This record gives sequence, structure tokens and C-alpha cells, in this order.
Amino acid sequence: MKAAVMHGKGDIRLESVPAPIAGEGEIIVKVRASGICATDIKMLLGQGSPKDLPAILGHEVSGIIAQTGPGVQNYAIGERVAVYPIAVCGECFFCKSGRHNLCLHEFGLSHGIDGGFAEYVRIPKQIINIGGVVKLPDHIPFDKAAVAEPLSCCLAAARATGTGAGDNVLVVGAGPMGLMHLKTALWHKARVMVTDIRPDRLALAEKIGAAACLDVNSDDVAGEVRRLTGGLGADIVIASLGVPEVMERYFPAVRNGGIFNIFGGPPAGQPVPVDLRWIHYSEIVLTGTFASTPADFQLAVSLIGSGEIEVDDLISHRYTLDDMLDAVEQARRQEIIKGVVLIPEGD
Ligand SMILES: [Zn+2]
Ligand SMILES: [Zn+2]
Repeated sequence: MKAAVMHGKGDIRLESVPAPIAGEGEIIVKVRASGICATDIKMLLGQGSPKDLPAILGHEVSGIIAQTGPGVQNYAIGERVAVYPIAVCGECFFCKSGRHNLCLHEFGLSHGIDGGFAEYVRIPKQIINIGGVVKLPDHIPFDKAAVAEPLSCCLAAARATGTGAGDNVLVVGAGPMGLMHLKTALWHKARVMVTDIRPDRLALAEKIGAAACLDVNSDDVAGEVRRLTGGLGADIVIASLGVPEVMERYFPAVRNGGIFNIFGGPPAGQPVPVDLRWIHYSEIVLTGTFASTPADFQLAVSLIGSGEIEVDDLISHRYTLDDMLDAVEQARRQEIIKGVVLIPEGD
């Protein structure tokens, strides 16, 4: 089969590799759409690269079941599915408390096993057993279904922060994830402010429904947020970017008793100082969310399916495996909002 294989830092090659075969309890999915995530780009740039190279990246997958291994029940060849990418044990403390993304024994697509930038992907039983292979109604196109995974991460952050009706939410960063946080918070009927450096991204945020759009470089960002929130500050700040010094500048934007959520994965070795007096006297909750649970993923698929959260306007670029190299380069230069690799049925 055709696959985009990562060999090292900045080295991704289109190659022919053996197609996977379904073992006991496994499913092979014929990939029809595979989203390009910031994580893929970071890995390619050498931040948190897979331990074992060569590797196939891509963890935002939808497609058609092509094989079912011995013992697989409730799934049939030809069914359209979206795939939750984390394989978990289902038995550890975290799995039992519904926090599958923190599983002690987790691995997953492009994170220990091959991912979705290929014609076929092998889904291990640990994903199937936790309801991670979600059947798609016919009306959900594969490209939209591939966005269920990133959307599920935003739903996870909203769940963890208790985002609700009337909350003032500040989203720092209007990249693809920031815009999905905006949509998620709006779905929760929150009032959302968005800040970014790029006017084009802010214009899109405004179109989507942001109550206010702020320039990240303005001198007094926190002051502006307070002015927009009756002097209090935001109930919830979602830092949807991976730049510690920008996150730090937004600490004062959260109100006393509010929640500051570090959503974007920060790079290693770049700690920022935190004033413990602020945490204590202002009763700030400084927290993070990472990935999502199968329940978040199932919710994401259903919200995309019902149209309650529209993702089509975020898919700015569609590629094929053959132009994967261009896709990676454009994503690296942040020229795209959300890129999805599409693989035609007949390939
Ligand atoms: Zn992702
Ligand atoms: Zn576990």
C-alpha cells in the first residue's frame, strides 16, 4: 500500500509498504480521510518524534472497515467509521475513572503503532474494546468525520473546565484548535473572546461568533479582557497554543476563582515562573487537558453529524497522499487552518 513514512526529523517519504493484516480482535480500516494535526508537524520537526522510526503518522482517521480479525463482533466489512486514536488498557485506575487519555499503558495511532497517512490502518483491540471505532451515519462525509478527533479534544477541555451557559471564555490562539474551542464554547452557550496575532484568523473567529477579538500583541491584553468582563476577567482561559511566554502573559486575564487551562502542548525545557501568591490569594485553578476520552470522541461524532458543530468551514485544504510533502510544508508555515488528506475509494 501507499503510505507517507517518517524516517527522521523533517524526513517524510511517500513509499510502498506492506498493507496491515487484521489479527485477533483487530480491524483494518481503509483510510478515506486523515487530518493533519499540529502534533504531526511537531513530530516531524523533531519535537516528541516517535521512538521507533520509520513510522506512519496521522491520528485523525475516518474510513471504511476493510477487514475484521477473528473474534471481532458488532463490526462488518464495508461499514463507515471514525477512529478514536488512543489504545488503552481499560483496567487501570485512570481507565476505570473514565480518564482513558491518562491510561498507564496507553499507546495509539502514530504513537507506538502506525497511523493514518496510509491507505490502510490497523486498529488494535484496545481501541475497539472501549468503543473507539465509531460508526458513521451515511450523511457524514469522511473529511468532516476526520475532524472528530481534534473536536473531541476541545470538548474534553470544555468538560474539564465546566464551560457552561453565560461563562466568559477567553481562547488564546485562533489556530484550528482555537477556532474549535470557540465553536465548542459557543455550543455550550458561553460568551467567547479570542486573541491571536493574525488578522485573518481573528476575522474568521468573528465570523464564527466570537464576542470580541483581541490582538495578542496589544500592550494590555489582560486589561482589555477585564474591561470586556465587567472588571472581573475571564471565567475560563483556554491557552490553545504552544508558546509558554504568550500563555504567561495571559495569566492576569483570568478572574479570581477562575480556571486557566493549558491546552496547547508546550515545548520541553521552557518553564515559566508562576506567582504562588496569585494562585493562593486569587484561588486560581491552573490546569491542563490533553487529548480526549472515548466518550468525548463519540460526542464529537454526533455533534458533527447533527450539524450542531459545523467543521466544514475549518477544513481549508484537502490533499492526497501524493501531495503529502506539500501539505506538511504548508502546515508548518501555518498557511492552512485545517488540512485533511483524502484517499479516494478506488485506490
Ligand atoms: Zn490531533
Ligand atoms: Zn488504562
